This record gives sequence, C-alpha cells and structure tokens, in this order.
Amino acid sequence: MKSLLVMKFGGTSMGSAERIRSAADICVQVHAQRPVAVIVSAMSKVTDMLLETLRHAEGGDERGVEEMLRKLGEKHRECCAGLLDGTARDETQIQLAEILNEFARIARGVLMLGERPPRSVDEAIAVGERLSSAMIAAHLRNRGVEAFAVNARDVVVTDAVFGNASPLMEQTREKAQNLLRPALEQGRLPIMTGFNGATMDGRATTLGRGGSDFSASILASVLDAEELWIWSDVDGIMSADPRLVSNAKVLEEITYREAAELAYNGAKVLHPRTLAPLMEKEIPVWSKNSFNLDAPGTRIVPVTRNGPMGPRAVTSMTNVALVSVDPASAALSGTKIMARSLEALAAANAEVLALTSSSYRQNFCFLIRTSELPAVIEKLEEAFSIELAHGYLHPIDVDLDVGLIAIVGEGMKGHPGLAGRIFTAISQQSVNIIAIAQGSSELTIGIVVRKEGVEKAVRAMHEECGLGA
Ligand code: ASP
Ligand code: MG
Repeated sequence: MKSLLVMKFGGTSMGSAERIRSAADICVQVHAQRPVAVIVSAMSKVTDMLLETLRHAEGGDERGVEEMLRKLGEKHRECCAGLLDGTARDETQIQLAEILNEFARIARGVLMLGERPPRSVDEAIAVGERLSSAMIAAHLRNRGVEAFAVNARDVVVTDAVFGNASPLMEQTREKAQNLLRPALEQGRLPIMTGFNGATMDGRATTLGRGGSDFSASILASVLDAEELWIWSDVDGIMSADPRLVSNAKVLEEITYREAAELAYNGAKVLHPRTLAPLMEKEIPVWSKNSFNLDAPGTRIVPVTRNGPMGPRAVTSMTNVALVSVDPASAALSGTKIMARSLEALAAANAEVLALTSSSYRQNFCFLIRTSELPAVIEKLEEAFSIELAHGYLHPIDVDLDVGLIAIVGEGMKGHPGLAGRIFTAISQQSVNIIAIAQGSSELTIGIVVRKEGVEKAVRAMHEECGLGA
C-alpha cells in the first residue's frame, strides 16, 4: 500500500487520558488523508508496574501483589473514565478488567510457584499494551474513526528468545497481509500493541524493553509502508542529552546507521533494533514530539542530503560494567580464551558495548549493561570453571565505576586528527581514559572513563566538535 503511514505512540504519549486524546487527535487528522496503522506502548510506568507485581509474586509477597493489582486497575479505570462515557466507557471498563484479570491469574500463579518462568513473564507483561490499545481504539471509535485493537500476538511472529525475541519477517509479513491489509483497504484503522509477539506455535514473547519502536518498524516493513512516524516526548534526536549539555540541538536529518549507533550507545529516543527492518526498503522514519506538534522532528534516512557530515552527536551510558578476563599463564591460548568468553556472552544473551584487548598476554575486557552482569558472570564462571579453579585465569574482574561515551557520525573517517582532538579535550578536563574502542567503519568512537568523568567528557567532546546550537 503505497501511501500507508505507520505511527507509533510511546508510553508518555499514552500516559494519561489527556495524552491519549492528543494522540487520537493526530490519528484522526492523519487518517482523514491517508491509510494509517498505529502501534502503541503501554501507558508510561505500566510495564515497570507489571514487572514489579511479578517480583512481589516471586518473593511470596501476596499483599504486595494485591496492592499492585489495585494500582494497575485504578490507573486504567481512571484513564478510561477520562476518555469515554456512557456505554462505550462501561464496555471498555469491562474489557480492561478482563485483561487485568488475565494478568492477575498469571501473577497469582507465580506467587504459588515461587518463580517466574520467562514465558509467563512475557505473556503477563504484554497486557500493558493490550490495555492502552483497547482504550485508544474505543476512544477513536467514539470519534467516528473505525479503529480496532489488534494484539501483536496474532501478527508478529518471533523466535523463542523470551524477553528479547527477534521477528521472523516472512511469517510476520504473511500474517500482517492477511489480517491487516484488508482492513486498511476498507479504510479501517488498526491499533496494534507494541512490544509483544508470539512464536510460530503461539507462545507469547516480547521484544525487549522499549521494544514498541521495534514493533512499529517491523510492521512498517511487512506492510511496505511509505513512512514511519515515532511519537515520543522529545523534539527529535539530539546532538547530546540536553540535561547534560545546555546547547544540545535537534538534528534535522541523520542516517539509519547513525541513529542505530546512537540508540545502541545509550540515546533513549529509539530502540536500537528499530532501524534494521527498514533498511532494505529504505522506509524513512520521523522522530516527532506529540507534546510539541510545531517541532519538525528528526528525519532518519538511508543517506542524508548533505552527504556524510562527520561527528553528529555524543551519547553516554553509566549503567555499564567493565569485565576483564586475564590469563595468568602464557600457556593458555589468548585467542581461545577470547572465543570462549564471547561464547559465554552469547549464551547469556548479552550485548557487548565495547571490546578491547591489548598486551602480549592477551588479557582483554568488554563492556556490558549492568543489568546483564549476573547472567554474564554466571556463564563465564561456568565456561572457565577449571581454569579459574587451577589459577590459570585470574579471578574475573568487574569494574562498576565506569561509563561509556560515544561519538557518532558517518564520515568521521574523513576527519584525520579527530580522535586526537577528542582525547585532548577529554584529558583537559582531567578525565582519565580507561579503554577506547573504534570499529573499522569509523562510525563510532567509544570511550570508557570513570563514572564521575562522564558528564565532563560529554560536554568537552560536544564542544570540541562544535555539535551544539
Ligand atoms: N512498554 C514496553 C516497555 O516499557 C515497551 C515500550 O514502551 O516500548 O519497555
Ligand atoms: Mg517506550
């Protein structure tokens, strides 16, 4: 469908009755002009609340579970009452209660079991998006738009990596074409849940936290959309986090690769996997602010109009850990130790943010998210149990007092001396550099520093490269 627009509304854009009304305003306007399919996140905080409920359940805290269920019920009832009235409201309230009951059943099951099987977690936390999609669809119908809620379980087919599933695009395409295309052709407006999917044999999965962006790009790809608009609460993709850098500016246009690198290295605007499904079809993406309709937003495209522009933006992350693996004996093959370490990382389903190695003994270190640390350590200790027990390997070292800064831009290649200038700017702030990683694409330079130096280093790099307004 040539002119099809896919739009995604994030958690804050669905955060209250008032916000959902504004999102619906946008839907009504756009839908009057072209076919549109919408993806929604859960109301902001709801996924966290769902997870917290399950944690209470796992810990045997029945009171905590009931309290969270009450809060979740109240939040959605209140929102629904602010959006709808009369029979539409009553019917939707019943629908919400049914969805929450499904969640309550799983939570009470976890309470009885004393553990949270990943499959049940995925099924449970997907209810956040089902609740928000039911509300906005009912509200839109009330306003005369033929909207209908779709559970992505029936559309997005994934592998069975619970909690961080990947889509199977061909199967998803078939389902989307069968289920959504006819409705779109009749001028109806599907509102699909973000974040969730199901395996080929129907087991519920989720795409990882913040995964609704990814859902949106998957849908845009399989429906051959003309464009994807991602609505959030910021004006677009910025040259730096405005809380750290006062003159950070919104970028008018960036490439897919730049956006993916920024997301991967900690910029919160987009889920890191969002761009991948769009690349082949070159579907452009707009990052827009549903709180500020006058802001033009950032356009994400295969190549920018002005060609590669050198450094574009600086990001940082502090919820990271630097893990070092250090052979004590030169008799061990460093390369084999590395290979086995990477296998352990893969088994832990962890993402390596930076990887560096040096010295003839080939000790090496890698940076991962703190949230992935327990699983990584478990897998590493399992893989090297013999070497560790016999002292062939020093105990695995974890440094939590670190942060990652990354500078991203296509065409940094053509800027000789850039790395030197950046390092000088950082050291002038007396920030010590612990590790450096630059891929051969030269799209990103990653620098690991002490946590306390992160903000200073971000400002210094942003300034040195003249990225601000
Ligand atoms: N609701 C999910 C989360 O909070 C997915 C999303 O918002 O993108 O992670
Ligand atoms: Mg989100």
